[in-house]
Amino acid sequence: MQLVDVPKSPFVCRNLVGGQWQEPKDVAWQDIVSPYNGQVVGRVPLCGPKEVAEIVAKAEPAARAWRLVPLKERTQLLFRFRELVMANLERLSQVAALEAGKTVAEARAGVLKGVEILEFALSLQNMDAGDAMDVSRGVKCTTVREPLGVVAGISPFNFPAMVPMWLFPSAVTLGNAFLLKPSEKVPMAACVLGELMIEAGYPAGVFSIVHGAKDAVEAVVDNEGIKAVGFVGSTKVAKLVYGRAAALGKRSLCLGGAKNHLILVPDADPAVAVDGVVSSFVGCAGQRCMAASVMVAVGDCESLIEKITARAKAIELGKDMGALIDSAATARLTEALAIAEKEGATIRLDGRKVPAPAGYEGGNWLAPTIIDNAKGSFDCATRELFGPVLSIVRVKSLAEAIEFENANNYGNATSVFTSSGAVAEHVATNATSGMVGINIGVPVPREPFSFGGNKDSRFGVGDMTGAGGVELWTYLKKVTTKWELHSDHNWMS
Ligand code: NAD
Repeated sequence: MQLVDVPKSPFVCRNLVGGQWQEPKDVAWQDIVSPYNGQVVGRVPLCGPKEVAEIVAKAEPAARAWRLVPLKERTQLLFRFRELVMANLERLSQVAALEAGKTVAEARAGVLKGVEILEFALSLQNMDAGDAMDVSRGVKCTTVREPLGVVAGISPFNFPAMVPMWLFPSAVTLGNAFLLKPSEKVPMAACVLGELMIEAGYPAGVFSIVHGAKDAVEAVVDNEGIKAVGFVGSTKVAKLVYGRAAALGKRSLCLGGAKNHLILVPDADPAVAVDGVVSSFVGCAGQRCMAASVMVAVGDCESLIEKITARAKAIELGKDMGALIDSAATARLTEALAIAEKEGATIRLDGRKVPAPAGYEGGNWLAPTIIDNAKGSFDCATRELFGPVLSIVRVKSLAEAIEFENANNYGNATSVFTSSGAVAEHVATNATSGMVGINIGVPVPREPFSFGGNKDSRFGVGDMTGAGGVELWTYLKKVTTKWELHSDHNWMS
């Protein structure tokens, strides 16, 4: 069975510089390897300060002209871009699946979630009018949101099209020029988005792409012409980028990793809970910053856990669940399972024993895995594993479950499965995560309810999407105006 389309010739990723595709000279190149079978499907250049400077030099004049185009006119191009994304949905989904190892259905869902975020940017033209008030006789204050100039976004491997679309539609619609640095592991979907931005008619330099890894990220943060950085990735790198930007006095918002808790209560409706738990920890092979990672079973949840295990066991590799991003991820998870066993946990469902789909033996596969009887202090119960592995920690009370959740450094998502309104309310009130789900395994808010975590899952203020994105990509200008002298009144006159 063919799981994903593989193009006949490898995809060569180029930078998008001043509206032109450019192959950088004198830089190292890296193979793009499909997680499905280990096949080289493309090549990506690893750029640095020189390539970033060249792009910014072209983007700066573009930003100066673009900010003067009225918001409603800027938005028309985003409508066109949205149409092009929808017309190219299958192509984008196949490319994202091929490079990230997702099933094509998951990749398609990711693109469509990106379109939802984009639609928030389409609505800005009706919302971003600013305020006005006569603050004194003859004196009026108005506010307007001004773009920053050239801004940048840095994205992770796990959503090749969606995370870039969290970032650039709002930034560009608000009048900035935008430089995207996609993950070097999944740069091909970003190139397709670049093609569609050109086809949509954006002026040269308003949307640019630079490829690369650590050096490219550092060059983006350090470049004086780049006025703000939005980052999405691991906590380790989010912290580095946030610190580096702050040291330069640069605005940034950096979303990091996660260790998401699912609190399971015996009164949960099995029809809702079993599907909610399993789809949360196996979806995108657990490589989602919103994936369930540790399930805190309060009291006797044995019959629910049996059903969850049976459902997870029935997941078919390749058909229902994709691959891990690379062999390093497989090795990391294999090691984590060995540590769990050494610490005294039991492997209730062992995905290591499930063979790869036929014809895809060269890929990175791990079937759903459930670790049972983990203690709250175990490595598997506290560290982000980022794979289709669910660790079960058993506790006696809801208070103990909340205490465990609160103690974790991460704070992206927490969900509870229960039939009790009081239990749900208690968890929603006391969880420390930025996003809470009641009977929902992946509590990603739908726009305009914005996306963003808490604690070590987010560095900076505000959320990445929705109103938070507007804060990130603009500054608020206050204009105070007087046209005539009112001699009977002297405050501010
Ligand atoms: P990553 O941090 O390794 O990479 C993210 C970006 O940083 C990439 O563009 C990469 O090129 C760059 N990078 C990598 N190492 C760097 C370094 N040392 N210095 C500077 N830049 C560097 O993350 P990843 O493995 O691509 O993605 C998975 C991680 O992202 C997980 O931890 C996941 O939880 C997190 N994530 C978080 C969210 C969120 O919204 N909070 C969303 C998606 C993914």
